Amino acid sequence: SGGPASPLLNNLNAEQLAAVTLPAGNALILAGAGSGKTRVLTTRIAWLLQTGQVSAGGILAVTFTNKAAKEMMTRLTAMLPVNVRGMWIGTFHGLCNRLLRAHWKLANLPSTFQILDTQDQLSAIKRLMKQFNVDDERFPAKQTQWFIAGAKEDGLRPGDIEARSDDDRKKVELYQLYEEQCQREGVVDFGELMLRSYELLRDNDPVREHYQRRFRHIMVDEFQDTNRLQYAWLKMLSGHTAAGGHFTPGEHNSVIAVGDDDQSIYAFRGARVGNMTDFVREFNVRHQIILEQNYRSYSNILDSANQLISNNKKRLGKNLRTDQGPGEPVRVYESPTDLAEAQWMVEEMRQLTRDGFDRKEMAVLYRSNAQSRVIETALFNASVPYRVYGGLRFFERAEIKHALAYLRLLENKDDDTSFLRVVNFPPRGIGARTLESLQDAARAAGRSLHDAVSAVGGKAGANLTAFVAKIDVLREQTQGVSLREIIELVLDHSGLVEHYKADREGADRIENLDELVNAAESFVTQEGFGRDAVALPVDELRQSPASQGLDPSRPVLDEPLAPDAETGETLSPLAAFLTHAALESGDNQAQAGQDAVQLMTVHAAKGLEFDCVFITGMEEGLFPHENSLSDFESLEEERRLMYVAITRARKRLYLSHSQTRMLHGQTRYNVKSRFFDELPESALKWLTPKNQGFAPSAFGYGGGYGSTRGGSGAYGGGGGYGGGNRYSAGGSSAGKDTFASPPVPPQKAAPSHGLRSGMQVFHNKFGEGTVTALEGTGDDARAQVKFARHGVKWLALSVAKLTPV
Ligand code: ATP
Ligand code: MG
Repeated sequence: SGGPASPLLNNLNAEQLAAVTLPAGNALILAGAGSGKTRVLTTRIAWLLQTGQVSAGGILAVTFTNKAAKEMMTRLTAMLPVNVRGMWIGTFHGLCNRLLRAHWKLANLPSTFQILDTQDQLSAIKRLMKQFNVDDERFPAKQTQWFIAGAKEDGLRPGDIEARSDDDRKKVELYQLYEEQCQREGVVDFGELMLRSYELLRDNDPVREHYQRRFRHIMVDEFQDTNRLQYAWLKMLSGHTAAGGHFTPGEHNSVIAVGDDDQSIYAFRGARVGNMTDFVREFNVRHQIILEQNYRSYSNILDSANQLISNNKKRLGKNLRTDQGPGEPVRVYESPTDLAEAQWMVEEMRQLTRDGFDRKEMAVLYRSNAQSRVIETALFNASVPYRVYGGLRFFERAEIKHALAYLRLLENKDDDTSFLRVVNFPPRGIGARTLESLQDAARAAGRSLHDAVSAVGGKAGANLTAFVAKIDVLREQTQGVSLREIIELVLDHSGLVEHYKADREGADRIENLDELVNAAESFVTQEGFGRDAVALPVDELRQSPASQGLDPSRPVLDEPLAPDAETGETLSPLAAFLTHAALESGDNQAQAGQDAVQLMTVHAAKGLEFDCVFITGMEEGLFPHENSLSDFESLEEERRLMYVAITRARKRLYLSHSQTRMLHGQTRYNVKSRFFDELPESALKWLTPKNQGFAPSAFGYGGGYGSTRGGSGAYGGGGGYGGGNRYSAGGSSAGKDTFASPPVPPQKAAPSHGLRSGMQVFHNKFGEGTVTALEGTGDDARAQVKFARHGVKWLALSVAKLTPV
């Protein structure tokens, strides 16, 4: 089965079919928005599997977000019965994490290494700069962060950078110091995940060759937004590269890259459209396929997108057509204020609901995160459920970060970033001066803060010692308890819950902390310790070159979170959960079932589609962004961003702009975006008179909104733009709507392994021990066992042979 007649291939046009069934070899699919690129990739994976050309373990697919990876796996399982968890589908960061977990030793990392998000990275840099007395006016921490991230994206270590000025030299020095700090603390930032795994492949021939042999089919979505290092990583993984030798493409494996140059929107973060042309040349691409049929949008929407993007000079050139009719016109609305704009939107949404659209099929897109506040307020006041993507991620909320910091300290006492985050939170009388002397002492002794507390004397020293003792006691107490209980213990004993209880505004935070417990619970029961926790079929394991001088402590190479093939030893649920927290956007913590309006930046909307789309704040200085106005290249990038925004819509598209807007605490008077002039007039319908002159003097700003045009006078009720209180009401409920997860059914299925806590067991390598905890069910079941001779270990029961004694 699975020939051309396969039902898998039924719903494809001729070009798509050709792309899905391409023979082995490298290929580029260049195609506009909504032409089925992602669908082609997913179908190709299914087709390859179904026709037996490759096994699940031989596929690696890179998506741009975790959400997209999940989406791909969902679609795949709908197409054919396959265990997608065995496949390497994920973001670059996710896949790199997987590699580094498998080869931590070769990558020179501790087995429990933790991931710094951007926020943590910034505070680590600030701490470093303070420690070395770097003038933060001359070298703002944010700039240093950009410098380091940029260098890593280009694959450069401090030693590779040629400094041309004193300032440059200083930055390189900071980069070097920062690296040493991270290494000492056992943490890696996002850029490091990428660079370190690139170096791992580059410097270890057997590892590289192993993966080159393994991943016969590599697929990359949104290729236009890959950066230099990601490109090099793909090359390393797919090609035939002898150590320091030549790249020979296409010997063993096929790379299929899928992209749209018109949707390249991450140049500011190092993305290189040039990767597409390089790819064609360097990978010897024989097949290039162009898809021009759009299946997403009505033609009024598509024509708008096409005409807009035709204003860009730098394009590879392709067009889009649709067989769908014109559909509704694109509606344009001008409002006097941002509040009125939001209010109008709420009204339109009501109408859309009456027309039969689900709320989750309505998306509000904005150029800048700061715009969401007013929109959230309006939605909240109108009791419209909504959900914000990509704003503050669940795992980035302060209270969650605090709780995670305690948890990380349990896993890794040397994590100084976490130490500093909570050493005096909740407050325990440890001041900045004390911490400075602690840091000095630690540096002098070359030890972590945790290990240096005894060097500080007096009352302050006593407080520090008490803190460390608390952590150490917690670590003891949490041996042998479930992940859920660990978190509950930490919330209790850290004093966090207590602290927030005393805080007038703390109720939401406590709710979020409860949510963390739920997140952990569903991580264990539903995710099965993350999608990565999968063992390969035995015959593939046998092919693993365990004998080739690879990490001897982990004979199983391929599945980082998977158990050691011999002993069954595995990452603790806590360590696995912390990794998940750092890599996962937290979006899926939201109530999956709830029908809510979707709010997000245009960047975050890439690859997604909705029936109805509102693009708001279409004003000069906002969209296009003010930083882009003087520069041709960035203006083109803004236009591509607008192209992405427009092409998210299937059926209805609304564009709005406002004469005034409160942003970053200032009222701005804006003129409408130049992009309006680049849209086909015939596709538009102006809800407010077009070319409404902008006349700030005629507009009594500050006199309330009651007399303004647009029928939005009802808003405000004299309250004006009070901001703070009203927002915090909206915000708190948003927090809940946004991140509450569905109630997790208590999973009390009878365990098939027959083990119980407290049981004495025998393991053929570790000897006798006591079962101290059990997690998960079925193939994911794991036991924590305290061995008399080997200490506490987590074991995967599908692998480890434990016999009751
Ligand atoms: P983007 O550039 O925005 O990422 P894309 O090229 O990846 O878009 P898809 O998301 O794969 O496009 O497809 C767009 C929509 O069109 C999806 O809803 C998809 O299911 C649908 N579609 C794609 N091809 C076909 C087809 N041959 N017949 C019917 N529907 C299709
Ligand atoms: Mg896509």
